[in-house]
Amino acid sequence: MSSLFSSLHTHTIFCDGRDTVETMCCAAYEKKLHAIGFSAHAPLEKKAGIKTFWNLPEEKKDDYIKTVLEAKSRWEGKLLVLLGFEVDYIKGLRSALDEDITSCNPDYLIGAVHFIIPPNGTEPFTVDGSLEELVTGVNNGFGGNMDALIHAYYDATLEMIELGGFNILAHPDIIKKNYRDAKPWNTEAEAARQKEVAIAAAKARITVEVNTGGINRGKIDEVYPSLPFLKMLREHNVPVIITADAHRAEHINGNYDIAVQALAEAGYTEHCVVPTLFSLPQSVCKI
Ligand SMILES: [Zn+2]
Ligand SMILES: [Zn+2]
Repeated sequence: MSSLFSSLHTHTIFCDGRDTVETMCCAAYEKKLHAIGFSAHAPLEKKAGIKTFWNLPEEKKDDYIKTVLEAKSRWEGKLLVLLGFEVDYIKGLRSALDEDITSCNPDYLIGAVHFIIPPNGTEPFTVDGSLEELVTGVNNGFGGNMDALIHAYYDATLEMIELGGFNILAHPDIIKKNYRDAKPWNTEAEAARQKEVAIAAAKARITVEVNTGGINRGKIDEVYPSLPFLKMLREHNVPVIITADAHRAEHINGNYDIAVQALAEAGYTEHCVVPTLFSLPQSVCKI
C-alpha cells in the first residue's frame, strides 16, 4: 500500500483492549502510520446506569487522558498521537455532547450506537454482543420482531447524527454482525434507512469510518459499512476514514487492504488520514 494511513479507532488496557498506549504507538510507528488516535469507550455507568466490562471505568479516566497526552509529547515529530473517546449514543442517557466528555478537551470523538432502548421499557441491550444476547433482547424488548430492532438501530443512528458533537461515525451497520445469522440482511427496507444515514452524514459534515474490526476479530468477512452502503455514502460525497477498531497492537492496521479495495469498488478516490478534528484541519490522501 503506497497510500498514507492512520488508526484512529483503537482500544487499550484502559477499556477492553489488550495492549498499552505505548505498545499501540510503537505498532503504529512500525507500520509507518501517520497518526494514531485513542478512542476508549467513554465511561457509561454514572451517566447511563449501565455497567459493562468494556467501558472505561470512571476512576481511570484521568489516568487515560494523562497517559495519552504524555504519549503525544513523547512521539512528537515521529507520530501524531490524538486523544479521543468512542462515545455511546443512548437516547436521553448518553451522547458526545455530555459535559464529562467535552470538558476533557479531546482532539476528536467517535459517535457509536451499541445500545438500543426497547420501546416496551425493558432494559437497553447491546447489538454488539453475541447472537444470543441480540435474540434475547429482540424477544424481550421487541416482541421477537428483528425488523423493528433494525429500524430502532437506524433511528438511533440518525438521532445521534442530528444531535452531533462528534467527528467520526462508528461502524454504521455493525448491527449486521449478528442479525445476518438470524435473518436475510441488506434488504430494500434497510437500504432505505442507510440512504437516510448517508444524507444525514453529508448534511452534518461528519466523516464515516470504514472499519475492519469485524474482520480483524474474525466476526465477519467484510468492512462496516457494507459495499452498497459505502456506495450510498460515496454518492452523497461523505468523507471516509479507514480504521481497525484495534483492540490489540497486531491489529493496528489490520486488513486495511480490504478496506481500500471496498473504497475503490464504491468509487472513492481518496480517504481521510485525519478527519476534521476539533483542533486540526482535515488531511486526505489518494487511494
Ligand atoms: Zn464500537
Ligand atoms: Zn471501538
